[in-house]
Amino acid sequence: MKVGAFNPSKSAIKIFTFDEGGVKVPYTCTQCNEAWCMMVCPVGAITLNTETGAKVVTEARCVGCKVCTIACPFGTINYNSDKGVVTKCDLCNGTPACVEVCPTNALTYVDADNLNSDRMQSHAEKSHASAGEVAYKTL
Ligand code: SF4
Ligand code: SF4
Repeated sequence: MKVGAFNPSKSAIKIFTFDEGGVKVPYTCTQCNEAWCMMVCPVGAITLNTETGAKVVTEARCVGCKVCTIACPFGTINYNSDKGVVTKCDLCNGTPACVEVCPTNALTYVDADNLNSDRMQSHAEKSHASAGEVAYKTL
């Protein structure tokens, strides 16, 4: 709905498919504190929503140069060739629609300060060590 089309290639949320084990994992913009997409934009089209922490694209300002798509280390900002501007997750003003509609509750919306990233990293390292190299592709 956000991009005006039911089309995975235009979506602000993507799915990693891990080939070994058939595990699928959704991912989207992490709203980095040090948001490189925002820092490199030459026209100030990406700004911070101070209430939600989201980095938000103002389409009326975006000139479609795609510099932000190169700067984002996670590949979570996309060029929309129909509109000539980029799109990204803006947290739906604090009520992410993807979380609302997920039929299996696979998505949760939590404060980044509560992520316990040390435990997550430790778990990821253990999984990586036991699984060896994991190949993946995006839908
Ligand atoms: S594509 Fe738009 S938002 Fe991205 S850097 Fe260029 S002007 Fe800024
Ligand atoms: S689009 Fe990329 S660089 Fe920008 S805030 Fe999201 S994850 Fe960070």
